[in-house]
Amino acid sequence: MFRKILSKLTAPFKTKAKPTPSKPAPAAKSGRSGGRDSHGHGPARHDKPRSPAAAPRAHSPAPKAAAHAPAHAPRTHAPVAPKPLAEVPKMDTTFSALGLGDRIAYAVQQKGYETPTPIQAQAIPVVLAGKDVIGSAQTGTGKTAAFSLPILQRLGAHGPIRCLVLEPTRELALQVEESFKEYSKYTDLRTTVIYGGVGYGKQREDLARGMDILVATPGRLLDFMEQGEIRLDHIQTLVLDEVDRMLDMGFLPDVKRIVAKVPKSRQTLFFTATLPPEIEQLAAWALRDPFKISVSRERSTAETITHAFYPVVQAQKFELLAHLLEQTEYKSVIIFSRTKSGADYVASRLKQAGHTCAVMHSDRSQQERVDALKGFKSGKHEVLVATDIAARGLDIADVSHVINYDVPENPEDYVHRIGRTGRAQKTGDAFTLVTEET
Ligand code: AMP
Repeated sequence: MFRKILSKLTAPFKTKAKPTPSKPAPAAKSGRSGGRDSHGHGPARHDKPRSPAAAPRAHSPAPKAAAHAPAHAPRTHAPVAPKPLAEVPKMDTTFSALGLGDRIAYAVQQKGYETPTPIQAQAIPVVLAGKDVIGSAQTGTGKTAAFSLPILQRLGAHGPIRCLVLEPTRELALQVEESFKEYSKYTDLRTTVIYGGVGYGKQREDLARGMDILVATPGRLLDFMEQGEIRLDHIQTLVLDEVDRMLDMGFLPDVKRIVAKVPKSRQTLFFTATLPPEIEQLAAWALRDPFKISVSRERSTAETITHAFYPVVQAQKFELLAHLLEQTEYKSVIIFSRTKSGADYVASRLKQAGHTCAVMHSDRSQQERVDALKGFKSGKHEVLVATDIAARGLDIADVSHVINYDVPENPEDYVHRIGRTGRAQKTGDAFTLVTEET
C-alpha cells in the first residue's frame, strides 16, 4: 500500500534523493497510531457548509444585533471622508508595463517584487481587460497578486463593495485580505474580511465603514446576506479561489448560492488546482468565455525543492524526526501530521526536547490558530506542527524545511504541503518519513 502511494508521490517530481540517515532505524514491536484527522480538512465550526434546503437562520449563529438590522438597509456603503492620498513617483517597471498604474506599481515595488511571476505576466493584462479567467497555478506562484493587482487597478477609487473574493478557510481569507491591503496602500481602496468562528461585532463595524473589496468564507458571508447586512448588487469582480478546496470542504452548494446573488454582468476569476467534473460544471455555469491560464503542470512542486524519503519503523519515527532536526540547519520548519492527536503528540515531545514549537489543527480555537501562525511567522516558534488544514495556500516566508511526519493521503496533499517551502524561487527541503502501514 505504502509503495503505491510512494510511487505516486515520486513519479511526477524531479527528485534529488538524499541518502537516508546513516543510522537506520531499528525494528520495533509496536507503534503509536492515531485516527484519521477527519476534521483536519473540515471547515471552521461556524463556517460549515449548509444544506441549501436548511431554513436560513435555523442553525446559523444568529448575529447578536441582527434583530435590529433592517433587512433592506445594508450598511456596506456608509459615506466616508475622502482619504488624502500620498504622493507616489512615476513608475516605469515591469509591473507598470503590464498596465498597472503608479500607485499599485509603487506598492509592488515596495514589496520587493522585481519581475512578474508567469501567472502574473499572463493574468494581469487579461484581468485588466475585464475578461473572465480560469487559472490553474502551482501554489506559491504569486497567484494572489495575479488577481488582486489588476482588480485594484480596475476599481480605481473608493465606492461601494465591488469585489468579492471567496476563500475556503479563514487563514487564507486573512492572508488574501492582507495582500489586498498591502497592494492598495497608496490608494483609498478599502478591504475587509469576514469568516466564521469569531463574533460578528468587529466584522459588522468594518463593513459599516464602507469597503471596496470583501474577502469572505462562504458560511459567514451567507449569514450576513441572510441578515440583510451585505448585498452583492454592486459586485463587478467575483474571485472564486481554491475552488477544488471548497469542493473538498463541502462548500459548493454555498458557493453556488452566493454566485447566484452576484450580478450576471460581473467579471469572474476562478482558480483551482484540479478540474474534476463537478468543478468543470461550476466553471461552465459561473464563467463567460474564460481565458485559460495554466502556469505549470498539475501535481508538481517547485523545482527549487529537494525531496528526501526516509523509511522508518513506526516506533522509531519520533527519534528519526528528532535526529533530522538535530542534523539539519533549518531556519523554520513545518511538520505535517495526518492526525490532530499526532500533531499534539509530536509538538509536546518536541517541546520536551527543547524546541520552540506551535501547533495548528482544527481542534484549536481560532485565537490559538492565529497565535500559532503569528508566532511561527515572527520567528518566535522555529517549528510549526500542523495537519493538512495548514497545507493549502498559507503564505509563510522563508520556510526552509517541510517534514511529512506521516505520508500524506494523496499526491495533491503532498504538493500542497511541500508548497509551504521553496516559495517564489527560494530553495527548500522536503523530508518524508515513510512507514510500512499494516
Ligand atoms: P501566492 O502564490 O500568491 O501565495 O504568493 C507566494 C509568495 O510569492 C508570496 O510571499 C508573495 O509575496 C510572493 N510573490 C508574489 N509575487 C511575487 C513576485 N513577482 N516576485 C517575488 N515574490 C512574489
